[in-house]
Amino acid sequence: MSFRARAASAARHVELLFFPSFCRLCSRPLGRPGERIVCRDCFGRLEPRRGPVCLCCGRFFEGAGEDHVCRRCLERPPSFSLHRSCGRYDGVLKDLILLFKYRKFSVLGRALAGYAVESLGADEALWQGVDFLVPVPLHGARKRERGFNQSHVLARELARIKGMSILDGCLVKIKNVAPQTTLEGAGREDNVRGAYSVRRPSKVGGKILVLIDDVFTTGSTLRECGLVLRAAGAREVRGLTLAQA
Ligand SMILES: [Zn+2]
Ligand SMILES: [Zn+2]
Repeated sequence: MSFRARAASAARHVELLFFPSFCRLCSRPLGRPGERIVCRDCFGRLEPRRGPVCLCCGRFFEGAGEDHVCRRCLERPPSFSLHRSCGRYDGVLKDLILLFKYRKFSVLGRALAGYAVESLGADEALWQGVDFLVPVPLHGARKRERGFNQSHVLARELARIKGMSILDGCLVKIKNVAPQTTLEGAGREDNVRGAYSVRRPSKVGGKILVLIDDVFTTGSTLRECGLVLRAAGAREVRGLTLAQA
C-alpha cells in the first residue's frame, strides 16, 4: 500500500471513529471500502430493468412482448430520435435519485452512472456514433440554489466510464420555469417552451448528441432540448435518463 493510500485509509478510520456514518437508506453502519452515503447492499438492490420499451421514446410497456414504436411516437414523432431510461422511478432507484439530487450527495453520481452503464451499456442504438454527452442544464438561479447540476455530474461520470466527451455550457436554460414536478401533462410542455437555447451552434453542427437527465416524466424537457439542438444544426439527438416516472 502506498503512503498516500495508507494515509487515506488512516484518515478514513479517524473519520469513522469520530463521525460514524450510516447508510441513508437502511441505517446500517458504513465501513466497507468505498462505501459512502449508501451501503453496498442497498446499491445491490438496483437492478437493470428488462422488459419491452417503445423503440423511440423509451417508455416502458407493461408485461411481456416485443419492443415497438408506441402510438404517441407514431402520431407525433419527438424531436429526439430515441430515449432510454434505466428503470422505473420507484423503490431504491427513486430513493437514490432523491438523495443525489436534493440532499446534494453528488458522490452518488458515480454509482448511478455505473448503474446506467450496467443497464444500457450494451444498447447499440443509443451509443453508436455519439459525439458528445450533453447534460440537461439548470437555470443559473436554480443551480446556485442547489449548488450543483445533478445531470452534469451524471454526464461527467458517464463520460468517464464510456471514454466519451461532454459538451457543457452550450445548451443553456434561459428561463427559470416552475419545477416540472408541480405541473401536469400539457402544462409541462407550455412550461418549458422557449426555456432552452444553444449558445455556440457551431459546436453541435452535424453532431450526434445524447442528452443526460435524471428523470423522464412526460418527455417535454427532452423534446424541447432536442428541438433547440436540432434547430442549431445537431444531426441527431438521443436521450438517457436514470428513471422514468
Ligand atoms: Zn443500506
Ligand atoms: Zn414512444
